[in-house]
Amino acid sequence: MTTHDTIVVGAGVTGLVAAWRLAEAGQDVVVLEARDRVGGRLRSELHDGSLFEIGGQWVSPDQDALKALLEELGLKTYERYRAGASLYVDRGGNAKRFDGEDLPVGPETAAAIERLTKTLDDLVAEIDPDRPWDHPEAQRLDRITFQQWLEDQCDDVEARDNIALYVGPAMLTKPAWAFSALQALLMAASAGSFRHLVEADFILDRRVAGGLASVPLELARRLGDRVRLCQDVTAIEYDADGATVVVGQERLRARSVVLAVPPPLVRRIRFTPELPAEHRHAREHQSFGLVIKVQVEYPAPFWREVGLSGTGFGPYQLVHEVYDNTPEGYATGHLVGFVSDESADRIGALSADQRREQVLSSLATYFGEQALAPTTYVESDWQHQELTGGAYGTSFDVGGLTRYGRVLREPVGPIEFGTSDVSGLGFQHVDGAVRIGTELAQCVLSGR
Ligand SMILES: Cc1cc2nc3c(=O)[nH]c(=O)nc-3n(C[C@H](O)[C@H](O)[C@H](O)COP(=O)(O)OP(=O)(O)OC[C@H]3O[C@@H](n4cnc5c(N)ncnc54)[C@H](O)[C@@H]3O)c2cc1C
Repeated sequence: MTTHDTIVVGAGVTGLVAAWRLAEAGQDVVVLEARDRVGGRLRSELHDGSLFEIGGQWVSPDQDALKALLEELGLKTYERYRAGASLYVDRGGNAKRFDGEDLPVGPETAAAIERLTKTLDDLVAEIDPDRPWDHPEAQRLDRITFQQWLEDQCDDVEARDNIALYVGPAMLTKPAWAFSALQALLMAASAGSFRHLVEADFILDRRVAGGLASVPLELARRLGDRVRLCQDVTAIEYDADGATVVVGQERLRARSVVLAVPPPLVRRIRFTPELPAEHRHAREHQSFGLVIKVQVEYPAPFWREVGLSGTGFGPYQLVHEVYDNTPEGYATGHLVGFVSDESADRIGALSADQRREQVLSSLATYFGEQALAPTTYVESDWQHQELTGGAYGTSFDVGGLTRYGRVLREPVGPIEFGTSDVSGLGFQHVDGAVRIGTELAQCVLSGR
C-alpha cells in the first residue's frame, strides 16, 4: 500500500491550496480528484472561439487571501467594464436608467431601502463571520427566515424585495424564506458589510486575465504528478495513527487526510468507523442553492453605444441581475445574467430552446430587441453535476447555523474537513477557499 504524509481529497481551490502549502512545508502529499480536471467550481470553456467562465469569476477588493495568492502565482487582473448608466426593471417591467448605487424607486421606497441597509449593517458589524453563533441574538435571528425578518422590519414591498434580492437570489441563491436572518447576516459579514453586497462595483470588481480557473490550473501545474485525476474516493477507514483512503481497487495510507469536498458530498464517502452523528446531521442541514449563470455574446457591446454599462437589476425579472462580461481585449460584447432559485427550477423544466427564448426575452426587457439575437449562448450546468450539485455554494436551513455551524470545521481523528462553504470571511467565494485551504494545511502541520 502506498503511504503519504497527507492525502487531499478534492482538487478545487481549497484542496489545491492545502496541498501546495503542505508540499512547500516538505510533506509528501497526494491530491485525489474525482473529475477528469482540476478546479471544482472554477472552470473555463471556449465557445465559438471565445472564453466563457462557467463558475466563479470575480474578485473583490476585500478578498485579501485570494489577491495575495494571485500575486504569488503571477496572475494578472483587470477591471470589469462598468462605464455608463445602470438599469432597473420595476414591477411593471419598465427599464429605468440610473447612475451610482441608488435604485430609481419612489422616495418612500428609497428611504425604506436605506433604513433596512443601515439596520443590516449595524447588525453585521456585531457579527464575527467565523463564529456567527456567538452573537447575543444568534438564536433568535437563526429561528426566523430572512423574509420574515424583512416583513417585521418594513412595510414597503418593493424595498423588501430589493433587499431580499441581494442576499437571496443574488448570493445564497435560495428564496429569502428558505434561510434564516442569521445566515443572511453571515453572508453580508463575510464580505465586510451588507453595503458591499449591494455595490456591484465592489463585489464584482475585477476579473483574472485568462479566467479565475487559472488559479487551480497554476496550483496543479506546480504540484505536478502529486495531483491524480479521475480518483473518486469512495471510502475512508481511519484510526488513531492515520487513515486508509479507498479509490476503486486501490488503497492509499496517510497520517492525515484533508477532505476538501463540499459538505453535502461528504455523504458519498463511506467512513469506518462511521462519522459521529452530529457530523452527518450538520452536513444534511447544509444544502446547495441553485442559480443558472447565462452568458451571451454579440457582435459588439451595443449597450455601450447608448451609454449603458450593461449592469441591470430586476427583482421581478427572470434574469434578476445582468452585467457586461466582455473579456479584456475582446471586440465582441458579452453579457452575463443569473436565473436563481425558484425561477431556475421553473426554467430548468423547460426544453433548451424554450429556456433560451425566455432568458433572451428577459434580457430584451433590459436592453431592447438587439438582446434577442446573440451569436453564442452558454448556460452553466452545476445542478446536473453530482460532484457539485448546485451553485454558487451551500448554506444552512433555518436554525442550522446555531445548531451545527461549529461542527463543520471540526476534525474527526486524522481527517480535516473544509471548502469555501465553511469559511467565515469569503464564505462561498474563492477567497474563502484560499483561507480554508491555508487553515487546513496549518492544522495538519501543527497536528492539532
Ligand atoms: C456559477 C458560479 C459562479 C460563482 N461566482 C463566483 C465569483 O464570481 N467569485 C467567487 O469568488 N466565487 C464564485 N463562485 C464560488 C466559487 O467558485 C467556489 O466558492 C469555490 O470555487 C469553491 O472551491 P472549493 O475548493 O472550496 O470547492 P469545489 O470547487 O467544489 O471543489 C471540491 C472538489 O472536490 C471534488 N470531489 C468531490 N467529491 C469527491 C470525492 N469523493 N473524491 C474525489 N474528489 C471529490 C470535486 O470534483 C471538486 O473538484 C461561483 C460558483 C459558481 C458555481
